[in-house]
Amino acid sequence: MPEVDRRAAALAAVAKRRARAQVKKAVATGARTPRDVAAVAFADPQSVEASIRITEFLKSLPSIGATKLEPLMERLGISRVKRLGGLGKHQRSAVSDFLSAYQSRRGIEDRPQLVVLAGPAGVGKGTVAARILESFPFVHLSVSATTRNPRPGEVDSVNYYFVDEDEFDALVTSDQLLEWATVHQTNRYGTPRRPVETALDEGRPVLLEIDIQGARQVKLAMPEARLVFLLPPSWDELVRRLVTRGTESAEDQARRLETARAELAAQHEFDVRVVNDDVTRAAELVVDLMGINKESYA
Ligand code: 5GP
Repeated sequence: MPEVDRRAAALAAVAKRRARAQVKKAVATGARTPRDVAAVAFADPQSVEASIRITEFLKSLPSIGATKLEPLMERLGISRVKRLGGLGKHQRSAVSDFLSAYQSRRGIEDRPQLVVLAGPAGVGKGTVAARILESFPFVHLSVSATTRNPRPGEVDSVNYYFVDEDEFDALVTSDQLLEWATVHQTNRYGTPRRPVETALDEGRPVLLEIDIQGARQVKLAMPEARLVFLLPPSWDELVRRLVTRGTESAEDQARRLETARAELAAQHEFDVRVVNDDVTRAAELVVDLMGINKESYA
């Protein structure tokens, strides 16, 4: 390996180690719940959380010391060398069950999160969001304002607040939008600020289904927001979904593919990447990322 690459690799390894230490510290101090760390690790194999060894993770839990660790690992049936991201399905559910019991024993509540669900057009953000709402109607799904015309079947105040250019300008100048952007080089879209703040004040998890420019603005305004990037299983699959949707003209589709290509390139700016190969699975992962304790609502 050339010297420069070796140096870069060493620096990257140091940064990763530091990031892992930060996550463990957040768990140890109670800044993050153990279930939250597991949710990120299980959703995204590329995350820092996924790269933490199971033994290191469990040791960071208050009250789990070296003596408790041994029998716990035995009970979970997981090899000590495993990292959180490398656990199989059954191991994950064993860890999840343990963490749920651990948290309820210690009275540790998951915290409702503001999750921004972004990703290229056609990736299925709307379907995933709808699935989440079906099961957890108390989730606040933000309704955006837009200057685009309603499509057949779309209802004002339900799908969007359809406004004209002047009305949109007024929302911007009176600071009523948490973020806004011009999407696909045509129409403006924005997230009304007040309903998001009200829902969070009420302790409800909030879901924003917006584009990547908006996601960046939300992170700046609210650093605690979690940015989730929904990925297609493959580029070919994305093209197929976009083309078969058939609601847009060929010109629109070409423009959307162009935007999708640019958006995919930005996935590493996001906190968590979730592959939408199966709607039920993707929705479950996002639910866990929103700090929703499924058992409390079963
Ligand atoms: P559509 O016109 O197909 O409903 O939405 C087009 C794009 O606008 C989607 O990528 C969607 O995520 C994005 N979008 C919808 N609402 C908002 C919003 O409030 N803010 C931003 N930045 N993007 C939005």
